[in-house]
Amino acid sequence: AAMEKIMRRRSMQLYTEQKAWQDSTIEGQKMLEFRKGLPAYKEKDAILNSISKNQVVVISGETGCGKTTQIPQFILESEIESVRGASCSIVCTQPRRISAISVSERVATERGEQLGESVGYKVRLEGVKGRDTRLLFCTTGILLRRLLVDRNLKGVTHVIVDEIHERGINEDFLLIVLKDILPRRPELRLILMSATLDAELFSSYFGGAPVIHIPGFTYPVQAHFLENILEMTGYRLTPHNQIDDYGLEKTWRMNKQISRKRKSQIASAVEDSLRVAEFKEYSRETQESLSCWNPDCLGFNLIEHLLCNICENEKPGAVLVFMTGWEDISSLKDKLQLHPTLGDTDRVLLLACHGSMATLDQKLIFQKPEGEVRKIVLATNIAETSITIDDVVFVIDCGKAKESSYDALNNTPCLLPSWISKASAQQRRGRAGRVQPGECFHLYPRCVFDAFADYQLPEILRTPLQSLCLQIKSLKLGSITDFLSRALQSPESLAVQNAIEYLKIIGALDENINLTVLGQYLAKLPVEPKLGKMLILGSIFNCLDPVLTIVAGLSVRDPFLAPVDKKDQAEAAKAQFSRSYSDHLALVRAYEGWKTAEIDLAEYRYCWKNFLSAQSMKSIDSLRGEFYSLLRETGLVDSNTNIHNVWSYDENLLRAVICYGLYPGICSIVHNEKSFSLKSMEDGQVNLYSNSVNARASKIPYPWLVFNEKIKVNSVFLRDSTAISDSALLLFGGSISRGDIDGHLKMLGGYLEFFMEPTTADMYQSSRRELEELIQN
Ligand code: ADP
Ligand code: MG
Repeated sequence: AAMEKIMRRRSMQLYTEQKAWQDSTIEGQKMLEFRKGLPAYKEKDAILNSISKNQVVVISGETGCGKTTQIPQFILESEIESVRGASCSIVCTQPRRISAISVSERVATERGEQLGESVGYKVRLEGVKGRDTRLLFCTTGILLRRLLVDRNLKGVTHVIVDEIHERGINEDFLLIVLKDILPRRPELRLILMSATLDAELFSSYFGGAPVIHIPGFTYPVQAHFLENILEMTGYRLTPHNQIDDYGLEKTWRMNKQISRKRKSQIASAVEDSLRVAEFKEYSRETQESLSCWNPDCLGFNLIEHLLCNICENEKPGAVLVFMTGWEDISSLKDKLQLHPTLGDTDRVLLLACHGSMATLDQKLIFQKPEGEVRKIVLATNIAETSITIDDVVFVIDCGKAKESSYDALNNTPCLLPSWISKASAQQRRGRAGRVQPGECFHLYPRCVFDAFADYQLPEILRTPLQSLCLQIKSLKLGSITDFLSRALQSPESLAVQNAIEYLKIIGALDENINLTVLGQYLAKLPVEPKLGKMLILGSIFNCLDPVLTIVAGLSVRDPFLAPVDKKDQAEAAKAQFSRSYSDHLALVRAYEGWKTAEIDLAEYRYCWKNFLSAQSMKSIDSLRGEFYSLLRETGLVDSNTNIHNVWSYDENLLRAVICYGLYPGICSIVHNEKSFSLKSMEDGQVNLYSNSVNARASKIPYPWLVFNEKIKVNSVFLRDSTAISDSALLLFGGSISRGDIDGHLKMLGGYLEFFMEPTTADMYQSSRRELEELIQN
């Protein structure tokens, strides 16, 4: 009770200081003025009233109306004013770490406080929080992890789940858990906030919770589609000027095969409309130009041309360009910086804004620049709803976003750029009308927009569920199937079965669908299980350095470029790294070379010479650090780095680690007279993509290949692969690694010696037979 009293006094003191700042300083008054002008402020009483009367409240409103920054503050202030003061603890979740950080900074600024006073944040591996912090912004993942130790969220009084319209898999998951907690915690308050109007769905999920809609206002925005843009600017598309999109074609090519169905809908939409002469009112040049349009390109050249046009001819106002991810944002930024007009820093302020940035430079991004400077922000869909840049008057929309997708039938996941939905396109367009009428340039024909889906599918319906299933198990939430049947929208049961089956095969779940020791470790690592497995084994066997590179490489866009017109040269360049019949080890060598070149500041030349993507290499470099911190956080490695790399140069060991991660992605190599063919258990005959180092080999002196991805087109194609020996498969493939990791390792101890040496004839024969049976069945 005494503690309680002290805490209340401190809360009151902070509160009084804040009020004094707000009332008596010029900045304070200005800030209050600004806040009062936001649409959310006008609903303050209605919102607080509803929260006090209902356990769950849904709040929706236009992006930028003040939901994220204001509503948590309303609650904070009203709680301190009430008697409960000191004991209030408000947690507001954000789907991305960067928004959790930047929003908390903003809210602290609005209160004239430092971060860590009444407002703080917590994201993976980072956070600022003090003993007086009552309002915490965090990622959804952080709150989910807290549930591990605090099943009923005992210390929390209010949970605010923001941006629920995005329907991320973590948010959908959190909602199921919260729904179960509510009856056990009658005084807990849950507030759901969303930008668009599907509020009813959430309201009915929580038994008819009240919905408060914050009315907003935006100016009209004129939409231009590709045909108007070409007609207006006189820009001509040719097959050639769309190709130099910085080596993007390769990813797009993969993408095309995966989402071929959706793609061909789009393509046929274009063809159809050309046939029915939808474009007949446009000039012949425009029509010809349109027929060259390549839906797989992001249109860097066209964006550059448009930006130039805006800078030279249009009224003042910031430009917001929607891209798909940080790789293309940085490539475009590099390109624009070389441009005579756009690269002129006295006249143009060129900024990037994407989820993988450490922090946002809020001053530059949110403030109107001085004088005649044109602000251009290159952003991902984070700028669609999470952050609002007020002075945007022009929007350029490439029509794509990175989306994880998964086809339960093919059982192949991927994170690749896909076409956005109509709702997203409209949301992007709306960003141009915050302060005055604006203009939006969509870089695709109107008929393509018409072919977009209305809404994006929620993530839980389009991604593999392996990590989610591990989470359900590690939070002890009961049967996976039962739990998922209580979701807002339940995933197909085939997808759930696939996930459980996979987790059993890799040894994360036992026969009774309980977590194994390996499963417990994997649940602690917020990465895909296959990456988690490699990281764990890499730590145990002291060969972490190359394993970090491999794992990072599997998480970014393929760094080996294959420009259409220089395919042979590019493949030859990759071949220099490929003595080991392994694309993964080729990457390790390429990265080592890059690291050496970096010391001499020659990394760009190195990339250029070797057909490597500089952006991907940079991502790999920074991801390696992130994965390493993760392992330290989980306690899998200690801070003594050297010991972890003792075995880094043992190639056979690395093959085994790769096998451990990629199993059951395996096929056998059948050697013929002059060449070889590949056979897998589920798909029969399979093929390699031409850019794999193994596709160039005429003979592979190993019996098996493990691969990280297969893609079904007409036949099955494998992406990056590594050749492995019988013993690696026998020891590190699934059948033996089922069960607990301790037992497994004990057994391995005995084999280790054998496994490092060339196989002896007897063991070779028997293991070979055993494996052959395994594959046959
Ligand atoms: P919502 O969550 O409803 O989309 P926010 O609460 O994020 O809206 O933002 C409300 C307003 O606050 C925005 O329109 C913008 O004007 C302003 N704002 C938000 N963040 C910042 C910031 N970091 N710097 C300056 N202004 C900001
Ligand atoms: Mg918001």
